[in-house]
Amino acid sequence: MEREWGRLSVTRKIGILRLSHRHFRDQRMTTHVALSSRAFGCTSFAYTGEKDENLEKSLRDIAERWGGEFMVEYVESYRKYISNWNGKVVHLSMYGEDHRTTLQDLREFEEEDLLIIVGGPKVPPPVYELSDYNTAIGHQPHSEIAAIAVFLTDLLGSEVLYRKFPGAKVDIPPGLKAGRSKARSGSGDKDLSPKSV
Ligand code: SAM
Repeated sequence: MEREWGRLSVTRKIGILRLSHRHFRDQRMTTHVALSSRAFGCTSFAYTGEKDENLEKSLRDIAERWGGEFMVEYVESYRKYISNWNGKVVHLSMYGEDHRTTLQDLREFEEEDLLIIVGGPKVPPPVYELSDYNTAIGHQPHSEIAAIAVFLTDLLGSEVLYRKFPGAKVDIPPGLKAGRSKARSGSGDKDLSPKSV
């Protein structure tokens, strides 16, 4: 089914900027922000806050095994990074406009690269000014991962999640569902975890 809102142009690149990472408290959350973005086809992930070698290594290892292009980068200055971005900048915030309005607007700029910014514990006020769009995924507080997932699903459509990643060393065979229904019907304790992951 065709979606009402903008779709991914094949040439557009989508990057993520995650603000104010804290080494210990945010490692899991920031990792999941990056992995969720990558699963949707984002090709760059930058973060500010505390530099975290473990985070970077684990993301690079995953990208290496699971394929595709995914650049991981620590940036000291969010101002510089946002100002140098060559394309549109969307900051996800519950204080922003209805995301469906942003998506309508973005249809005019389908060829332009897109930077999506998510906050951490706090968002520096200049980020609101530096962004082309401040965009809400509803006006309730939830999470950066949920915000990215909803925004990208509505931008790209969920079929993007089933694209093959070039150069992947691991792959999930599509037979898992059958195994799961067998296990559910009581035919034994089958180990359904992918062996090569
Ligand atoms: N207190 C922070 C602030 O000043 O905005 C919010 C912290 S929230 C846990 C972390 C990030 O999740 C936000 O910066 C935003 O990017 C994203 N987020 C949470 N709820 C959102 C919503 N309803 N719409 C869009 N983004 C949201």
